[in-house]
Amino acid sequence: MKKVTLFLILICFIISANAQVKYIFYFIGDGMGQNQVLATEMYLAELQGKIGTQPLCFTQFPVTGQCTTFSTSNGITDSAAAGTALASGEKTKNSTLGLRPDGKPVYTIAERLRDKGWGVGITTSVSIDHATPAAFYAHVDKRNRYYEIGTQLAQSGFHFFGGATFYQPYPKDKAEWAEKNGREAGSLYELCRDNGYTFARGYENYQNSKDGCDKMILIQPHEGLTDDYKGNGMIPYLIDRKADDLSLTQITEAAIDFLSTRHDRFFLMVEGGAIDWACHSNDAATAIHDVIDFDNAIRLAFEFYLQHPSETLIIVTADHETGGMALGNSDYNLRLQLLQHQKLSVGELSGRLKQLHSSQGKKLQWQTVRQLFTDQLGFYTNVQISPEEDKTMQKQFKQLKKGKAKQVKTLYKQFDGLSAYAVALLNKKAKIGWTTGSHSAAAVGVWAVGAGAERFTGWQDDTQIAPKIIMAAEGQK
Ligand SMILES: [Zn+2]
Repeated sequence: MKKVTLFLILICFIISANAQVKYIFYFIGDGMGQNQVLATEMYLAELQGKIGTQPLCFTQFPVTGQCTTFSTSNGITDSAAAGTALASGEKTKNSTLGLRPDGKPVYTIAERLRDKGWGVGITTSVSIDHATPAAFYAHVDKRNRYYEIGTQLAQSGFHFFGGATFYQPYPKDKAEWAEKNGREAGSLYELCRDNGYTFARGYENYQNSKDGCDKMILIQPHEGLTDDYKGNGMIPYLIDRKADDLSLTQITEAAIDFLSTRHDRFFLMVEGGAIDWACHSNDAATAIHDVIDFDNAIRLAFEFYLQHPSETLIIVTADHETGGMALGNSDYNLRLQLLQHQKLSVGELSGRLKQLHSSQGKKLQWQTVRQLFTDQLGFYTNVQISPEEDKTMQKQFKQLKKGKAKQVKTLYKQFDGLSAYAVALLNKKAKIGWTTGSHSAAAVGVWAVGAGAERFTGWQDDTQIAPKIIMAAEGQK
């Protein structure tokens, strides 16, 4: 009996090792270091009164590895260089996108598979022209040349894009662009339509407009967004999300639906881009919620894998770690469950405070702000606040009222000092440490399941992932 079982396992292994992969899912958690993943699992366990971990879907994949992320210009990579490495297997300088250090364009796995007739989808929770998604289709010397990146998206011939909208639908300096090019710059929306793309705004709109089109761009509807989200190029964080906002899960669902009904083989990249933005703000509760959101998107791919196990490959990794996140900042007293009392991101909190200030002006009382912190962060009720901490907050409140609030600027956002202090205080009490508002050089995790997954085990460099994906796609051993 034992022999028969062993024989069956061997047969399954041989089948999976030789199987022709037809569906490849590449999940990239931007800024999702090992501690971002572990914090999420330990937070979920603490909510159940357990010390330990409550496993996410992807951490249960049978193959695990680790991956180094340095770029050619520094030990700490940015998302452009990291994205280029993950998309093509070639390292480059920070802020360079899709070009080698010598300026020659790389050939990304998405471009290669498109050229071999695969359906290609590129999706994210931030703007579709941001560094990580753009690394799969764009080749520019500076990642912030958003308009140029958008024009390359329009010409990519990829079949599905999903995420928040374009960061800059027009060139930053329209007059300069017109002078240089001898014509007015068209909007990226127009350019994409000219190249055969149909736009859908929101999931419902996708369902109604998908029929009859072969190239689709699914973006967040702009109506109903708060100031913090207007024009900043991301779909709302899970912690801030309202019922009619687009979610990464919906984007992934739409992408799978779109590609699988039109193509025999497809490659889909899904970026959990907002994890990075939350970590740049050192906002643990928001980051943890977005890791959960990312995991929910992965679950959809895993369900797809269960239906096509010998033809599907799922890889999950990160481009780098953001924030230098540590679990522990003083003693043996991790208290992640305190983060459950945070109901919105630091940016939304700052927006609420700004709203209160502009509607009540000089009449705004500390009591009102104190109540806001009780409702949104659990302060003074579930989260104990010391007299000194209270004094610090009241002092900052007085500055805010005078219009002299200090502003805290992160890579993508700006908050008032009081909101930033309050969220930092909650992080400190949960015993989370942050070493930086930027990235760190920490190695990131790699998880894989499906046909050819065994290639992704062990200690590897980010340049090794893309060639392994190509080997799987081409059925090489
Ligand atoms: Zn990144």
